[in-house]
Amino acid sequence: MPAQPTSDTPAIALRGLRKSYDRVEAVRGVDLEIADGEFFAMLGPSGSGKTTVLRMIAGFEAPTAGTVELAGRDVTRLAPFERDVHTVFQDYALFPHMTVEQNVAYGLKVRRVPRAERAERAREALRGVRLEGFGDRRPGQLSGGQRQRVALARALVTRPRVLLLDEPLGALDLKLREQMQVELKEIQRAAGITFVLVTHDQQEALTLSDRIAVFNAGRIEQVATPAELYERPATAFAASFVGTSNLLDGDAAEQVLGERGTFSVRPEKIRVLTGEDAAQPGGGDGGDGDAKLCRASGRIAEAVYLGETTRLVVDLDAGGRLTALRQNLDASATDSAALRGARALLVWDRRHNVRIGEAA
Ligand code: ADP
Ligand code: MG
Repeated sequence: MPAQPTSDTPAIALRGLRKSYDRVEAVRGVDLEIADGEFFAMLGPSGSGKTTVLRMIAGFEAPTAGTVELAGRDVTRLAPFERDVHTVFQDYALFPHMTVEQNVAYGLKVRRVPRAERAERAREALRGVRLEGFGDRRPGQLSGGQRQRVALARALVTRPRVLLLDEPLGALDLKLREQMQVELKEIQRAAGITFVLVTHDQQEALTLSDRIAVFNAGRIEQVATPAELYERPATAFAASFVGTSNLLDGDAAEQVLGERGTFSVRPEKIRVLTGEDAAQPGGGDGGDGDAKLCRASGRIAEAVYLGETTRLVVDLDAGGRLTALRQNLDASATDSAALRGARALLVWDRRHNVRIGEAA
């Protein structure tokens, strides 16, 4: 007997999941639970095993080892159509010769839902993605964003418990992608179903997700909420893949922080003092050498004007290099350019140092 799902039963549970293709170990032991109704992201660089994990959840690939459970039921040996999940692929995979409505209704037809109900539910799903009135068009007569929404409507019409999305916004330009991100989130909230989003775009993962799993070389390095992942990265890889990599280690860590180890500090936490401010022994904070503050002197290697902020890359006298963001309260692009090569003093609160563990 399959276990009866309760509210505590995870929508998806992966245990000891592995997948090898000949000599390639695509997935090297993944353990993960995703809660019912969660918006979950799998984030990682190309080739880190995200798609393979998604395909094993959907049933398109059989694991070399380990199990997949959906709502408490072991589905490892079941075919895709026997699983209560739907996958949206990057290329949307719409049928070009069918109308939009036929595309959306297709999954219902396969499930032998009566014609009148099919049409009604397809129209309802199209309303849900704001494509009312587009039912008679063909995919070729739609924009990229509209095709994306048809693919979503087609997935949602069968009311799956779990929706798997593999880089669903990858084909869209930046503006449209940002717009669709907001819509994805709204659709997920309204439908109340579990979304698993595969993406290599950290901004997308941070914006949309309740939790994020960071993938590296077939393994998960960290599972955390966006804020935890950003503020408390567990590994050097997680720290560098999410946000700007800013690590201090070796002699530089010892000299600047007085501790050995590897530490991450986010660029926006660092204050950059230049000119006369940098020359003050106290670093412009009152001059009492406050023990709560870290200080590091160096030379500005790069100054990039970004509109709201200027990004400063500083080579430290102690060795190593840190990036800092400076609010452009009254600076301009020309001022930024003049900073290149200048001496600088970096100052930040000690509590923003995050000790990084050894790589998994
Ligand atoms: P991601 O989605 O994170 O980019 P994938 O899961 O697609 O990564 O791929 C992980 C690794 O497995 C890669 O090295 C990829 O080349 C390999 N791989 C994926 N599918 C196959 C396959 N069908 N045959 C052989 N190797 C594969
Ligand atoms: Mg992929």
